[in-house]
Amino acid sequence: MASSKKPQAIGIDLGTTYSCVGAWHQGRVEIIANDQGNRTTPSCVAFTPDKRLIGEAAKNQVDSNPINTIFDVKRLIGRRFSDPTVQSDRMLWPFNVIKGVSDKPKIIVQYKGEEKQFLPEQLSAMILENMKKTAENFLECSVQNAVVTVPAYFNDSQRRATMAAGEIVGLKVLRIMDEPTAAAVAYGFEKLTYVLEEKYVLVFDLGGGTFDVSVLNIKQGVFKVKATAGDTHLGGEDFDNRLLTHFIQEIKRKNKKDISDNPRSIRRLRSACERAKRTLSFAASTTVEVAGLYEGIDFSSHITQARFEELNMDLFNRCMGLVTKCLEDAHMDKTAIDIVVLVGGSTRIPTVQQMLKELFDGKELCKSINPDEAVAYGATVQAAKLSGLGNREVEELVLLDVTPLSLGIEIVGGIMSVVVPRNTTIPTKKEKEFTTAADNQTTVNCVVFEGERAQTKDNYLLGKFTLTGITPAPRGEATLDVCFEIDANGILTVSEQDRSSGHKQKMTVTNEEARLSEEEIEKIIQDAERYRAHDEECRRKYEAKNSLERYAYRMNNVMKNISITDTLPLATKMVIKDVIQEMLSWVEDNPFPDVAESESRMEELKTICAPIDHM
Ligand code: ADP
Ligand code: MG
Repeated sequence: MASSKKPQAIGIDLGTTYSCVGAWHQGRVEIIANDQGNRTTPSCVAFTPDKRLIGEAAKNQVDSNPINTIFDVKRLIGRRFSDPTVQSDRMLWPFNVIKGVSDKPKIIVQYKGEEKQFLPEQLSAMILENMKKTAENFLECSVQNAVVTVPAYFNDSQRRATMAAGEIVGLKVLRIMDEPTAAAVAYGFEKLTYVLEEKYVLVFDLGGGTFDVSVLNIKQGVFKVKATAGDTHLGGEDFDNRLLTHFIQEIKRKNKKDISDNPRSIRRLRSACERAKRTLSFAASTTVEVAGLYEGIDFSSHITQARFEELNMDLFNRCMGLVTKCLEDAHMDKTAIDIVVLVGGSTRIPTVQQMLKELFDGKELCKSINPDEAVAYGATVQAAKLSGLGNREVEELVLLDVTPLSLGIEIVGGIMSVVVPRNTTIPTKKEKEFTTAADNQTTVNCVVFEGERAQTKDNYLLGKFTLTGITPAPRGEATLDVCFEIDANGILTVSEQDRSSGHKQKMTVTNEEARLSEEEIEKIIQDAERYRAHDEECRRKYEAKNSLERYAYRMNNVMKNISITDTLPLATKMVIKDVIQEMLSWVEDNPFPDVAESESRMEELKTICAPIDHM
């Protein structure tokens, strides 16, 4: 069969706990299983003395190597180290996260016997590379293009960092797509809205470590996120932990032993709990067994679906409460929701489905696409569409672009005044009136930002310009018209005009300028390489200097021995002492001298010290 010449594009759901990849294959979306045969892969990277492991292999060795097994990178990507959520998450991780340059977090691991530091982008890149390889093995060709999904609430920095992660491993990220939108695209809901009325879709995404609810509006094929709610620390792992606590107590009762002081026992039991939980989504009861769990205990116990539900009921209730909150934020009544979609592995739990269905007065939930694959599925559809693959059905999918973040200018007090709200369909043109802040002000700075935060210092600076020639007037009386125009390619032009004098100034910001450029990404890659070479260079410098220093001290000690110095002519003695002192102070002043310089000084010192060296 002749293969298509068109470049392959894949869809990747880069999840907090699990990732999933799909490709357009034989006219439809194929979710691709990894080398272990699983359709989702742990978002996990591990470092050992001799190798790097990714996915299943990394997760499987966490017991023996907790501090070098990295997970939850999505909680770090694009965030600052000082971000309060990073600070509190750090306390819970067994691996070490430090503050790097410009307040970027860095993850420290031991790899091949050396300490290595990685940016979150670099670790996410490793996961993306693994997903890319899974797809390439299946497609039997190389893949260059991808659509990668992120939570709807991700800000510009988190989106850019995710994009950079793809680019680090040579994946061109065609688009960063919102996860709930991807799930809705997987089901093709936008098609319902081309001719008919708009639809409101509630996406309920309960994953491994996070819970996200979003209300989407789809109108003529265009998606808008109306509201989001959720809990960044509520998901499948909490259900695993509830089971774990339950069994720890059971062991205390039955065996009179407390296993909670043994991290390895805990981790083994937790893995068994996760497996049991998955089984309980399909079976009424299951057995949990861990041989040699703790001090000779071969653990075996039985658990029912009902008991599991009871252990987690408060968490399930919390999810339902957040659905209500999201509807409130969207100013909508639940009856106004047309479609409810299940996303995330944990929505396989029957009670969760039942409770949600009840909340929506018995409405059928969309779950025909595997919930842990729906996001990757939609990303794949989008990737096929953007790269011109796919059949007519895909071609018909109109996904208009929207501004992922609000755009605005800074006003007095460093406040962000939004001109173009987030999720505005582009192309667009929006105008807003501003005024002067002081009497007889003739110039103003127009500083343009992107982001959702109230203060501009927390948003991203896109550029600035100065408008001069404003007709002098008391403060607040001049009218300054600010206009933001975004063309179909996402290029933003901002202009400002003084209505009275007619003076006008403008500036253009392209997407490219704001994004991490190819050079910047290249720099991250090169930095990694250079780092390696640089470390080696430092080590050589240090060693050369160190051997000079050691030799100088040894000779200095020899010189303290009167029986030796007495045999030397006075002049020789003086010269040797001087040169030793000179070398010692040189070493002190030059922590990382050139290797050649250290070596030549060593030669010199050895020549001078020849008369005493053998003693
Ligand atoms: P992420 O949160 O990273 O996007 P997923 O949506 O794939 O990841 O969800 C992963 C979570 O789903 C894990 O906690 C996993 O244990 C859970 N899960 C997977 N299958 C089932 C199942 N059959 N029953 C209950 N939970 C499941
Ligand atoms: Mg997910």
